[in-house]
Amino acid sequence: MNLHEYQGKEILNSFGVEIQRGIVATTPKEAVEAAKKLTEQTGTGWHVIKAQVHAGGRGKGGGVKLAKNIKEVEEIAGKIIGMDLVTPQTSAEGKRVHQVLVAEDVYYPGDNEPEEYYMSVLLNRSTGRNMIMYSTEGGMDIETVAEETPHLIFTEEIDPAVGLLGFQARRVAFNLGLSGKAFKEMTKFVTALYKAYNESDSSLFEINPVLKTSDDRIIAVDAKVSIDDNALFRHKDYMEMRDKREENSVEVEAKEKGLNYVDLDGNVGCMVNGAGLAMATMDLIKQAGGEPANFLDVGGTADAERVEAAFKLILKDPSVKAILINIFGGIVRCDRVAQGVIDAYKNMGTIHVPIIVRLQGTNADIAKKLIDDSGLDVQSAIEFQEAADKVKEVLS
Ligand code: GDP
Ligand code: MN
Repeated sequence: MNLHEYQGKEILNSFGVEIQRGIVATTPKEAVEAAKKLTEQTGTGWHVIKAQVHAGGRGKGGGVKLAKNIKEVEEIAGKIIGMDLVTPQTSAEGKRVHQVLVAEDVYYPGDNEPEEYYMSVLLNRSTGRNMIMYSTEGGMDIETVAEETPHLIFTEEIDPAVGLLGFQARRVAFNLGLSGKAFKEMTKFVTALYKAYNESDSSLFEINPVLKTSDDRIIAVDAKVSIDDNALFRHKDYMEMRDKREENSVEVEAKEKGLNYVDLDGNVGCMVNGAGLAMATMDLIKQAGGEPANFLDVGGTADAERVEAAFKLILKDPSVKAILINIFGGIVRCDRVAQGVIDAYKNMGTIHVPIIVRLQGTNADIAKKLIDDSGLDVQSAIEFQEAADKVKEVLS
C-alpha cells in the first residue's frame, strides 16, 4: 500500500524523525488557515504548497510551489487543487489532485547553504537483507544518478539479527561529508528512519531530499512510503490511510470481491485458478501472439457468482479482444466450473468478445460436453496448446 507524502511524514514523525512540518488542505480556504497555523507554530512566513498524489516528480510537473505570503498560498492552492498533475511518473492524462500539503519553507537562508541528500530504506532481494541506500546527489532522480554517477550511491546493509548498529549510522553521516552538529543530527536521523521502516513493516521508505538546513538541522522534506500489504493487519491505524482514489479502480473492486487481479496493458483477458497457472497462462497468451490484459486468480472456488464477478471485471477493460478461461480442476470439479461459466454467461446476456475455456482435471470431459452443448458462443479446449491455438485464431 502506497501512502501520500503527508501520511509518510506522520509515520516518520511518530518515530522521532525530523520532518518538514505541514498541514493538509482540500480547499484554498483550508490552505490559508493551515498556513496561518503553521506560521504560529513554526514562525515561518513562507510556505510550500505540495500536491498530494501517489506519484513522484511533482516538482517538475508544477505540483510543488513556494508561496511568500498568504495571498500566494490561496492562489497557488487554488491552482493545484483540482488540477490533473502530469509528472514523469504519471500517465499523459496525469493524476487529479484532491489535496495539498501546506508546509513550512525549510530552505531559509543562514550560515551555510542548504544541502539536499538522497536516502531510502528497502529490502535488498539478492541478499535478503534490508539496506539503506544514500547519496550526496539528492533532490533529483536517483535513477539518473545511478546511471551517470553510480559511484555517488552508497549502501549500508543491516544484519537482521542485530539491527542497525551505531557505527553504520556514523558511516552514513561520514560518507555524506558531514561534520559537527550536522554529523550528529544525521546519525540520529538515520537511526530513527530505520526504526520507522522496520517497525511499520514497510517495503520502502524513500526520502528525497533529506535536507541539511542552513543551520545544520537534518530533516525529511519528502517521503515516499510503501507498507507491506501482508503486514497491514498488524497496523489498523495505517490501514485507514489507504486512499482508494489513487489506486486502479478495477483492482480496488477486485480486492473487495476477494479476487486477485492486476491490470495489464494487453488485449486478452484471463481468468485462471492459481497464481502459478495464471503466470503460465500469460506466457501462453504471449506465445500465441497476444498480450495479457490482466492477471486474475479466481482462487479455489470458481462458482457461478465468482466467475460472473470475474467476467465483469475483465470486460471493464475496453482493450480486451478475447477472454481465455484456464481452470485446473483439482479441488474444484471441472463440470461445476463449466456450469458456473454457462450460468454467468446467461446472467450477463451477451458478451461481445470470443471466449475460450480450457478445463483440465477432474470431470474435464463432462465439462467440455456441457460447454459444447450449451449453445453459447464459447469455445472449449482441454489441452494447453489447443487453447493457445484458439486464442491465436480469434485474434487474427
Ligand atoms: P517531488 O518533486 O515529488 O519529489 O517533491 P519534493 O517534495 O521532493 O519537492 C520537490 C522540490 O521542491 C524539492 O527538491 C525542493 O527543491 C523543493 N522544495 C521542497 N520543499 C521546499 C521548501 O520548503 N522551500 C523551497 N524553497 N523549496 C522546497
Ligand atoms: Mn522528492
